[in-house]
Amino acid sequence: MRPPFVYHPAYSAPLPSSHRFPMAKFRLLHQLLQDQGLANVDQFVEPLPAPRRWLELVHEPRYHRAFARGELSHQEQRRIGLPATTPLVQRTWLAVGGTVLTARLALEHGLACHLAGGTHHAYPDHGSGFCIFNDCAVAARVLLAESRVQQLMVIDLDVHQGDATAAIFADEPRVFTVSVHCQSNFPLRKQCSDVDLPLDDGLEDDAYLSAIGDLIPNLLDQVRPDLVLYNAGVDPHRDDRLGKLCLTSTGLLNRDRLVLDACLRRSIPVATVIGGGYDDLNPLVERHGLVFRAATEQARLHGL
Ligand SMILES: [Zn+2]
Repeated sequence: MRPPFVYHPAYSAPLPSSHRFPMAKFRLLHQLLQDQGLANVDQFVEPLPAPRRWLELVHEPRYHRAFARGELSHQEQRRIGLPATTPLVQRTWLAVGGTVLTARLALEHGLACHLAGGTHHAYPDHGSGFCIFNDCAVAARVLLAESRVQQLMVIDLDVHQGDATAAIFADEPRVFTVSVHCQSNFPLRKQCSDVDLPLDDGLEDDAYLSAIGDLIPNLLDQVRPDLVLYNAGVDPHRDDRLGKLCLTSTGLLNRDRLVLDACLRRSIPVATVIGGGYDDLNPLVERHGLVFRAATEQARLHGL
């Protein structure tokens, strides 16, 4: 079986062409997966916008209302770094719905992948670093509230610490947070995940893969989650404009294989989100395609 891929055409909301966030990457990724033969048209599943009651399991009503109405303060707006236009507000609610859907599909099929998500710098009452709502945190709270799962793990391998996710679940034993990130990267002030692995600048493939090669399987054995939410951010890549690690594309692909294989060989369902990545669109979208390649291959290898 091919894993379900969650996508909505509205994900790539228009931004001013001078804006540094690569908003077109979602649409281009959707195209690339088809061009590379990694996805059939009927493999894509479209989400609905997250209902407000889901969002409010994590976010304060004041915050999401102010965002939707364009009433955030100038400072709040600047901290997010994205303009609250109507298309952007719509895609933000859709992307949260998309991660919840991806998590549900992962429980059903063993593996599912989202062509968005991983906005891990969004706190209950404010956004930060291109992140408005914390999609993985909302998905975790929705599934716990519905008693679909008893124990979750968030594995965040984006180059930036999953600071808001760590803070949101600091007192929630049912959500185990793991962040492997570059110590010197944003955010300056780190939070405490259940397990943090801060890495030095310039780390390359072999050292990176040996750092996570024992860690991830051991944590899965200890925690035995009912579901893993995997942030496969590609900003640890050596050419990324914001990240300071030095992985190659092969290194990222092997990282994704390692995580997915570790989950699937333990029969732990896994939902992937694409996380961050900052470069020219073509190489960037190629990099985001890697986790879908790993997922397609691992689904086959594990007989899903
Ligand atoms: Zn990042």
